Amino acid sequence: MAKRDLRSYFHKLSTLGADVRLNEPMKWHTTMKIGGPAALFVSPHSIEAMIGIIDFLRSEATLYRILGGGSNVVFPDSYDGIVISTRNLNLIEAGDSGISIQAGVPVNSVIWFCLSKGLAGLEFLTGLPGTIGGAVFMNAGAFGGEIGEVVKLVEYIDEKGIVRRIDGDSCEFSYRSSLFRSFGSTVLRVELKVEQGDKEVIRSNMQDILGRRLEKQPLDLPSAGSAFVRPYQDFFVGSTIEKLGLKALSVGDAQISDKHAGFIVNRGNATQRDVVLLIEKIKDAVREATGVTLEEEIQIWR
Ligand SMILES: Cc1cc2nc3c(=O)[nH]c(=O)nc-3n(C[C@H](O)[C@H](O)[C@H](O)COP(=O)(O)OP(=O)(O)OC[C@H]3O[C@@H](n4cnc5c(N)ncnc54)[C@H](O)[C@@H]3O)c2cc1C
Repeated sequence: MAKRDLRSYFHKLSTLGADVRLNEPMKWHTTMKIGGPAALFVSPHSIEAMIGIIDFLRSEATLYRILGGGSNVVFPDSYDGIVISTRNLNLIEAGDSGISIQAGVPVNSVIWFCLSKGLAGLEFLTGLPGTIGGAVFMNAGAFGGEIGEVVKLVEYIDEKGIVRRIDGDSCEFSYRSSLFRSFGSTVLRVELKVEQGDKEVIRSNMQDILGRRLEKQPLDLPSAGSAFVRPYQDFFVGSTIEKLGLKALSVGDAQISDKHAGFIVNRGNATQRDVVLLIEKIKDAVREATGVTLEEEIQIWR
């Protein structure tokens, strides 16, 4: 992307209602803390601004990518494109039959909001990093539940640029996927099903789930969560990698966690290349030992 294009986009996108930054380091916006500067980092201030900006970029045939909490992506050393962040779409409202949440609200803010209002049903997501938009896009799941099970309605921009609303049953949720992921749609706002509950029971459920995460996951080191999807129901990726003696194997500063072998952690200055090479080593070893070809859950953005 040429410098003069950047400057013209900077003014236009600012006017359309966004915080716009040039050469923004992406390691600041990802939980794995990997990634050099993105050419343009655009954070719309409202859903209306988001719709206007996407409409404009589509009319120019300019590519962009949507970033939520950055808890599932690994950026390269530099990214010559436009990243649209949902971080300013951060409003939550409670209504009579559910809660309405803008895409950029962190999942954990929703959980703690529900606790404050005595609303139950989302505790299984406690401690899940990232945003509601990212979780719905990925159909994030934890401890036997998936967010798709509690989605009531989604407002989104479809692959043709049209703003639509659909109910949860029509979102085609499946393991780590959804209609939005299949078609590259942008999630704007989500309504979730919740019910009145007892605050102490909700709090205790949250503490139980959080305790299990703290016990099992390497939360004290930067990561992007489980590196691989489960190839089938009873195949446990972490324990398979551990049994192969690969725990703590590293490439540069990218290392298989010594706490949970399904996670790759950044020991300090890991690069995307380190992560990619480590993934290849793991895949080769697992394929050779089991015949199974693992697929990445973390997203390597190039
Ligand atoms: C420590 C740790 C633990 C984790 N545990 C779990 C777990 O238990 N279960 C689980 O499922 N995942 C887990 N993850 C992975 C990750 O947190 C989830 O996938 C999360 O839902 C991603 O949300 P995000 O907002 O960070 O998305 P991002 O990482 O920002 O983006 C992920 C994908 O979603 C897209 N996206 C984000 N927002 C939108 C939007 N509004 N509209 C359209 N597309 C969008 C992006 O383009 C990208 O393709 C974990 C990650 C970490 C670091």
